Amino acid sequence: MRVLVTGGMGYIGSHTCVQMIEAGMTPIILDNLYNSKSSVLDRIEALTNVRPAFYQGDIRDRAFLDAVFKENDVEAVIHFAGLKAVGESVEKPLEYYDNNVHGSLVLVEAMRAAGVNSLIFSSSATVYGDPASVPITEDFPTSATNPYGRSKLMVEECLTDIQHAYPEMSITLLRYFNPVGSHQSGTMGEDPQGIPNNLMPFISQVAVGRRESLAVFGNDYPTVDGTGVRDYIHVVDLADGHLAALNYKGKDAGLHIYNLGTGNGSSVLEMVDAFSKASGVEVKYHIADRRPGDIAECWADPAKAKAELHWEAKHTVEDMTADTWRWQSTNPSGYPDA
Ligand code: NAD
Ligand code: UDP
Repeated sequence: MRVLVTGGMGYIGSHTCVQMIEAGMTPIILDNLYNSKSSVLDRIEALTNVRPAFYQGDIRDRAFLDAVFKENDVEAVIHFAGLKAVGESVEKPLEYYDNNVHGSLVLVEAMRAAGVNSLIFSSSATVYGDPASVPITEDFPTSATNPYGRSKLMVEECLTDIQHAYPEMSITLLRYFNPVGSHQSGTMGEDPQGIPNNLMPFISQVAVGRRESLAVFGNDYPTVDGTGVRDYIHVVDLADGHLAALNYKGKDAGLHIYNLGTGNGSSVLEMVDAFSKASGVEVKYHIADRRPGDIAECWADPAKAKAELHWEAKHTVEDMTADTWRWQSTNPSGYPDA
C-alpha cells in the first residue's frame, strides 16, 4: 500500500513510517522541514533498510502537491503536517490557522483532483476541551480554548462536511492523547527545538543535564497527588494505531473517529518518579503556578479503537520512560544537522 505521509519527518510521522515499512507498506514522505531535520531519513533507513521517497515542500503549495500525486500512485494519505505548540498558537494564530486549517484544505483539494479518497487526520484530545468526566469517549462534546485546539476542531468540522458531500471518501479522525517515548532502538525520538513545552521532553532534558529543574505546573488539582493527570501513550503504539486505522477503515467510506490512548492516567509526579527510576538519575523539580488553560485530568476510553480497529496500546509507562532515556542519553542534542 502506497501512502503519502505529510509531516512524515516529524516525531509521530517518522515512527509511523518505520512501522509502515516493517508492515510492508510504502510511505512517501512530504515535509517542509519546518520542525524536523533531513537526517531523520537516515535513521529510518538504518532501522528498516528502506529509504522512503522524500519530497521537501509545503502542504499549502497546490502545484507541489499535484506534482507529488502525479509522480506517485498514492492510495491513501496520513496527514501529520502542522504546527502544534499551544502557547505559540496564542501568539501566532494566523500561522496556526494558515498551516493547520488552510493547509489541510489544500491537501484535500489535491487529493480530490488526484482521485485519492482515503485520509487519516492527526487530531488531538484537546478537542474535548475541559471534559466533564473521565474516561473520555468519542461522543463527548468538543470545544477549544486556544488557537491550536481550535484549528484541530475546525479541521475536524471541515472534514466532516467534506465527507458528507463526497460520501465515497474514507476519513478517519484520530484523537491522540499524550504521545511520548521513542523507538526502542534509541535512534529515533522527539527532538523539540528550543525550550520544550511538553512534560516528557522537559523531564528528559533535565535528566541529561540540559536544563536545571522541571517546573511542575500546580500541585493543588483535585487529583491523586495534586498534579495534572494525563494519558501518556508510547509513540510506537500510536504509530501502530495509524496502521490499524488504514487496515480496518482506510477502504471503508465514511467518517470514522477514534481515541488513541491507553485508558490509564499518570500524574506529573508519577512521571518524574518513573523517569528517575528508568534513567537512574534523580530528576530535579520544583512546584510552580498552574499553567493557564491546563485541565486537572484527561484520559481516554480506548474501547472503540479496540473493538473496531483491533488495536490497543501495549507499552507501559516504564517502556515509555526507558525508551525516552535511551534516545535522550545517546542523542543529547537530538538529530544531527544534515
Ligand atoms: P512534529 O512537529 O514533530 O511533526 C510535524 C511535521 O510537519 C514536522 O516535520 C514539520 O516540519 C512538518 N510541517 C509542519 N507544517 C508543514 C507544512 N505546512 N507543510 C509541510 N510540512 C509541514 O509534530 P508531531 O508531534 O509529530 O505531531 C504530528 C501531528 O500530530 C500534528 O498535526 C500535531 O498537531 C498532532 N498531535 C501531536 C500531539 C503531540 O503531543 N505530539 C498530540 C496530539 C496531536
Ligand atoms: N507539565 C508540567 N511542567 C512542564 C510541562 C508540563 O508540570 O514543564 C504538566 C502539565 O501541567 C500537564 C502535564 O504536565 O499536567 C502534561 O503537559 P503537556 O504539555 O506534556 O501535555 P498537555 O498539556 O497537552 O496534556
